[in-house]
Amino acid sequence: MARSYVHEARRRVGPKRVRIHPVIERLAAEHPDAVIALRFLNDLELLVSVLLSAQTTDVTVNRVTATLFQKYRRPEDYLAVPLGELEADVRPTGTFRQKARNLRGAMRMLLEDYGGDVPLRLEELVRLPGVGRKTANVVAAERGATQGVVVDTHVRRLSQRLGFTRREDPAKIEADLKRLVPRADWARFPHLLIWHGRRVCVARVPRCHACVLNDLCPASRVRRASPAPAR
Ligand code: SF4
Repeated sequence: MARSYVHEARRRVGPKRVRIHPVIERLAAEHPDAVIALRFLNDLELLVSVLLSAQTTDVTVNRVTATLFQKYRRPEDYLAVPLGELEADVRPTGTFRQKARNLRGAMRMLLEDYGGDVPLRLEELVRLPGVGRKTANVVAAERGATQGVVVDTHVRRLSQRLGFTRREDPAKIEADLKRLVPRADWARFPHLLIWHGRRVCVARVPRCHACVLNDLCPASRVRRASPAPAR
């Protein structure tokens, strides 16, 4: 896309600091059900669900954890079975060998360093094997201890299309969003973008004509009539 066109599109919709509030309000009205789709009953189940959700769908994770959580209720339970058995139990979620190894490593660290509890601080969460910044942010936010903004593939794509960031690196995108999004909205903002990204602003061909943000979005493909010439 020509640079001048991008610049013109950004100028037309106005500064991001002015747009961020109506964007959040409209998305909240459009997607009142935008919450985490993973099913869990406690902090440990949340951590395990998010660890298993890499490279697969929430539906698959929920199907696997419906039986997994009957069998594995405490960190010790993940260490009490042979590795091959745990691998078989998480196999449908893909990359199961790596996930099983990470689960055991994380459970061991929970027991040795945190008394069997899931820590709350990001710095502690990212020490757990298999837990990156995105996973840590999800776990912290769902427990009411939001410390950052979750950046997944939807959040990255929509933030770029909406002109909220020009970065590619998730950590830099998160830094841009933390400066832009009011802190009180850090937890719900990613959910809103994720659900909008699944339903409307899909990756290949965004449905701009059906989008409540099309007059606020520099990437909108909706053509708006030019102002009528003065007579
Ligand atoms: S107007 Fe189009 S590109 Fe912009 S957020 Fe909506 S669907 Fe995505």
